[in-house]
Amino acid sequence: MSTNGGARPTAIVMGGSLGGMYAAVWLERAGFQVTVFERSASMLSNKGAGIVLHPCSARYFNICTDLDLSCMSLKVSSLVYLPEESPSPDPACFRFASYNSILTALKFHFPAEQYRAGNAVRSISQTDEQVLVTLQDGTVSTASLLVCADGTSSTAREMLSAEVSKDYAGYFAWRGLVEQSLLSLKASDALKSKAHMHLTPDGHMLSYPIPVISDDLKLQTVYVNWLWYRNTSSEELAKVLVDKHGIRRKDSVPPGLVRDELVTNLREEVEAMPEPFRELVRKTEAPFVQIIFDQAVKQMAFGRVCLLGDAAFAPRPHIAVGTAKAAEDAWELQNSLKENGGDVVSALRIYEEKQMKLGTFCVQRSKELGNRMQRLEGTWEQGRMLEVGLFKIGDSSM
Ligand SMILES: Cc1cc2nc3c(=O)[nH]c(=O)nc-3n(C[C@H](O)[C@H](O)[C@H](O)COP(=O)(O)OP(=O)(O)OC[C@H]3O[C@@H](n4cnc5c(N)ncnc54)[C@H](O)[C@@H]3O)c2cc1C
Repeated sequence: MSTNGGARPTAIVMGGSLGGMYAAVWLERAGFQVTVFERSASMLSNKGAGIVLHPCSARYFNICTDLDLSCMSLKVSSLVYLPEESPSPDPACFRFASYNSILTALKFHFPAEQYRAGNAVRSISQTDEQVLVTLQDGTVSTASLLVCADGTSSTAREMLSAEVSKDYAGYFAWRGLVEQSLLSLKASDALKSKAHMHLTPDGHMLSYPIPVISDDLKLQTVYVNWLWYRNTSSEELAKVLVDKHGIRRKDSVPPGLVRDELVTNLREEVEAMPEPFRELVRKTEAPFVQIIFDQAVKQMAFGRVCLLGDAAFAPRPHIAVGTAKAAEDAWELQNSLKENGGDVVSALRIYEEKQMKLGTFCVQRSKELGNRMQRLEGTWEQGRMLEVGLFKIGDSSM
């Protein structure tokens, strides 16, 4: 990477979640002086997200650290369809990490003083030479590159006038997690090292174990993460999205804010499901709601500014690659910057060309798969293997 009169080139990352942190660690390694600005003041600890580790999301740890992947992920060796309890014919070979374990591991390998929590980016402008970012605290920060990894509700997109399509998929997910030690011995035993699936007339339910790790990267607790995908009309969805305080939420209703009557209905409905799903939902303190949608942008590069991760493309969760795609965006971004010396604008154009193709492919494939799994278009049979993968089905196996 060429430097400007010996000084390191500078980069600002907007959003300190998984996508932003993959960008931060790779850009640091490529020679940039990186500052991350994260809107949230508290450590992001959305333990509720289970993430299938992919070679792309493990790449940084494998190349740049001596971290043993088994401290941040749990190996799952089979997928069991309930109620028959018949394992899927092909062995599942996934490593389930969690939002918490990946974020903690990335932050561990990034200088803490360069991660500025509780300071949102408020506006963006740029000249031929630099990007100017105005922050929540009123200060202005400059850099030669700005990476916007501010998620599906990205405000950077608005600031950049980026065109985006975000279409409701026709279903949402009830989600929750339970500490494995709180489950009965029978359920805990059944759920250990296995993913479980149950097909319902209006969707499917899935569970798998996920790790939560401490700041010094030691396995702390195992949780079981569950999701119940339910086909729902837009009218019904609008009701689900009104939270406890009567506020209409956009993409999700967080834990603790779902209306009591909806949680009561959920607990009644789950009684028709096979065990151990019944026990999982019964023991979930605060189930929450996540809308499933297809989101795609038409552009990822804007001069010295680029979009990365969910801010650009958000595939449905069934192919389990949101994080892997964000990690791949970050890897390709630093490759392109290295190959183009100090020419940030050209590097971003090349990055855009490649990552637009990957994002478009993921959104399309996850849409087709989600429609089959929910039986909105096509079918999904008992016993079928999950079609997880970033570039092709099966490439997430580790
Ligand atoms: C149900 C479900 C299951 C999933 N399963 C998988 C899986 O198995 N495998 C997988 O790879 N992926 C999975 N994903 C996707 C994965 O969670 C995301 O793709 C991944 O976290 C990357 O997100 P991101 O960092 O781009 O955005 P986000 O995680 O949304 O982060 C955006 C960040 O930007 C911050 N921010 C917003 N505005 C500003 C601002 N103005 N200034 C500063 N900061 C700001 C936010 O506070 C937030 O921290 C799943 C997602 C869902 C919903």
